[in-house]
Amino acid sequence: MKIAVGGFQHETNTFAPMKADWNAFEQADSWPGLQVGAPLLTACLGMNIPLGGFLEAGAQLGHSFEPLAWCSATPSGYVTRDAYERITALILERLAKAGGTVDAVYLDLHGAMVAEHLEDGEGALLRAVRGVVGQDFLIVASLDLHANITQAMVDASDFLTAYRTYPHVDMAETGRRAARVLHQMATENKRPAKAFYKPDFLIPLTGSCSLVEPAASIYAEIEKLDPQPGKNEGILGASFATGFSPADISECGPALLVYGAHTSPVQQTLDQLRERIVGSEPDFSAPLLTPEEAIEWALANQSVRGPVVVADTQDNPGAGGNGDTVGILKALISANAADVIIGVLYDPVAAAAAHEAGEGTQMSVELGAHTGGAAEETPVSADFKVLRVSDGEFDATGPYYDGIRLSLGPTALLEIGGVKIVVGSKKVQCADQAMFSHMGLDPRKQKIIVVKSSVHFRADFEPIASEVLVVSSPGPNPADHRDLTYKNLRKGIRLMPGAEETS
Ligand SMILES: [Zn+2]
Repeated sequence: MKIAVGGFQHETNTFAPMKADWNAFEQADSWPGLQVGAPLLTACLGMNIPLGGFLEAGAQLGHSFEPLAWCSATPSGYVTRDAYERITALILERLAKAGGTVDAVYLDLHGAMVAEHLEDGEGALLRAVRGVVGQDFLIVASLDLHANITQAMVDASDFLTAYRTYPHVDMAETGRRAARVLHQMATENKRPAKAFYKPDFLIPLTGSCSLVEPAASIYAEIEKLDPQPGKNEGILGASFATGFSPADISECGPALLVYGAHTSPVQQTLDQLRERIVGSEPDFSAPLLTPEEAIEWALANQSVRGPVVVADTQDNPGAGGNGDTVGILKALISANAADVIIGVLYDPVAAAAAHEAGEGTQMSVELGAHTGGAAEETPVSADFKVLRVSDGEFDATGPYYDGIRLSLGPTALLEIGGVKIVVGSKKVQCADQAMFSHMGLDPRKQKIIVVKSSVHFRADFEPIASEVLVVSSPGPNPADHRDLTYKNLRKGIRLMPGAEETS
């Protein structure tokens, strides 16, 4: 069959100050920029991106494709109305033009997109796609594990499938799974029965990590529900999206979805998974330390097994942080800590100044804290040694950014005391050792590595870490949602797992 393919990925932190406009989607970041028409068919191949996986598996199953449009932007505040309308028009107009020549539609979506003028970006898009192709066409989409899945998304599509790993090392595999299930539905000429449930509590990012419990065993169970010869008769697949909490929308939060041939086994499977998730509610909270507590612990507990990795989760650029808070840096300087590396601090002005000053020089600069991510925080105003400068272009070496050419813009390695800081000119989540090693640093030889990330860093850094500590330095992505002022959540949602406070 011929499948229309496209995508529109954005994770919207409605509390973050900077919006995602047309340029944010048009430009390449760690993923390719906007692709319209034929280039879309090759832009993501070989990369850990759902569209790439879908095209690869779809072609193997003998299908051909009608390219629509595909784009993504770094997580941030609202998607502007202008960007949302122009991008959805690109997808819908090309789909309308293809008309009767296609048999099905696949979209590579995130599932937590909020635009300035509408709460449910993907629900509205899927509904519009249904409006163009009509009831007889199959519509499938892949979603991020952090999707805030809505009733509208479920109703307008035939099959949704979400990543099962956080760090997201299975993005391409999720695309492949979408292709296999679409193939099966088309072959059997059947629309699946669906069961959908939204738990009434929010899960913090660090609590949704699939490497630790309770998520680890829930995803292991979900994996077992995939179609296999002689097993799970009648079940097409299940998804557990942990939701993206810093989104002030009514349908924010986790969701459970099961698809299959008949209503009653589908509902039964959902009930079993639901019991498991509801029963594990308090375990979805992850412990947090202050910067001072984390540094003290790290210095007192050095191990030959490797460095202590400290996650600056509240300034994670993958969740709307700007990557420029300096709470942990200040605590490290006060503690006279040495053999410490920090990445990636977003400060284009300091990076440019270092390029100007040159390697080996000493320069005075006001580093970080320029974008207001942490109220009342001031820059680190001090002398830094410029150890190295680079254009910030290099290949990823870890599993999360697998196959991707990273671009930090003009980059500098600055040193103060025993702390070395990779300063970049683009907001990038520190989830790959190459962000340090391309500047000549060996992450394994450090005492402490500080990363601006919540969980994705674990894919590449956990194997070399003796311990991972999650720290609550002030930043725009509060790990405790009780620090956020929600206005639009549906009534009765507990703001943290097991918490008494509700919306
Ligand atoms: Zn995610």
